[in-house]
Amino acid sequence: MPPAIPLTRTTQPKSKPRDDQLGFGEIFTDHMFVMDGSADQGWHDPRIVPYGPLSLDPSTAVLHYGQAVFEGIKAYRSVQDTIVLFRADKSAERLNRSAQRLCMPQIEEDVFVSALKSLIAVDRDWVPRAAGTSLYIRPTMIAADPYLGVRPSQTYTFFVILSPVGAYYAEGFNPVKILVEDRYVRSVKGGMGEAKTGGNYAASLLAGEEAHRQGYSQVLWLDGLERRYIEEVGSMNIAFMIDDRLVTPALNGNILAGITRDTVLQLATDWGIPVVERSITIDEVLTAAGNGHLQEVFGTGTAAVISPVSELFYKGHTITINDGRVGRVAQRLFDEISGIQRGLKPDPHGWLMEVEG
Ligand SMILES: *Cc1c(COP(=O)(O)O)cnc(C)c1O
Repeated sequence: MPPAIPLTRTTQPKSKPRDDQLGFGEIFTDHMFVMDGSADQGWHDPRIVPYGPLSLDPSTAVLHYGQAVFEGIKAYRSVQDTIVLFRADKSAERLNRSAQRLCMPQIEEDVFVSALKSLIAVDRDWVPRAAGTSLYIRPTMIAADPYLGVRPSQTYTFFVILSPVGAYYAEGFNPVKILVEDRYVRSVKGGMGEAKTGGNYAASLLAGEEAHRQGYSQVLWLDGLERRYIEEVGSMNIAFMIDDRLVTPALNGNILAGITRDTVLQLATDWGIPVVERSITIDEVLTAAGNGHLQEVFGTGTAAVISPVSELFYKGHTITINDGRVGRVAQRLFDEISGIQRGLKPDPHGWLMEVEG
């Protein structure tokens, strides 16, 4: 057991929102976890303090050169009224892989997990109850040197904030329309597409805005060299049901290794659905749609879990998928994963970790 983390309680607790008023990432709980890191001291001074602004010198490295990585995890209130984290160990691993790519320090998995658990225990009353709601957790590491020279920072800040979030599909699944992006690219081989870092999101905003103007909710990225190979949606990985097989782009260094993606591949395998991780071109998807072999398309990510796609738009052509209806596999995956997260279904792979206290 790591030593208890010093806690300064807020003197001004906020009023909590109703479960049916929750959106995404707008409301934050009463406390946050903060820890400092430096080359000579390692990570030190872990603490839980009242939620509030960080004080940063205007020259702080992260503000100028974007040396920052983050995670996105959820905690759920189960039907047994326990609070559980979903696959937090995977998230710790991935934060460290992202950090390595950006020359940032590693955080030991038990330090990461106990930061999350201790903070959630303090703010446990903020974990909403209604079906589909959850507590979104945002661990973030930033470069803290007050220095404008370009080099990896020598000091870092790691913090964790919590946000109660609403049911993504309060009124049932809402399939999304996606534009296949053929001008802008999100990342190229050798870049940092595999790291969960704000820079990848900054690179994606302009394409997203143009897609919104045309009535699409997100863009599907193609590879940066040939603009042929399908990569991901930018906050979700993508999967296709073609001829009763689940096909998804292989982890090629450009796309994020989604934890929901991994969860989906495991469940499909458990169910005897053939899973194929390989390169897949947009032309292959168009052809499969044209000859009736494309059965379903869906995104996978922590926020929505499964996001069925009803329509893809590519170079002037619209492909409607499964007559715009939610597919059988997407529905089954969503029901299974949300069932495990709420304690309604067994957890044979040990994906849940209970928050005590
Ligand atoms: C976080 C993220 C995903 C989804 O990953 P999950 O672990 O399933 O939430 C996909 N793509 C990008 C770029 C991401 O940042």
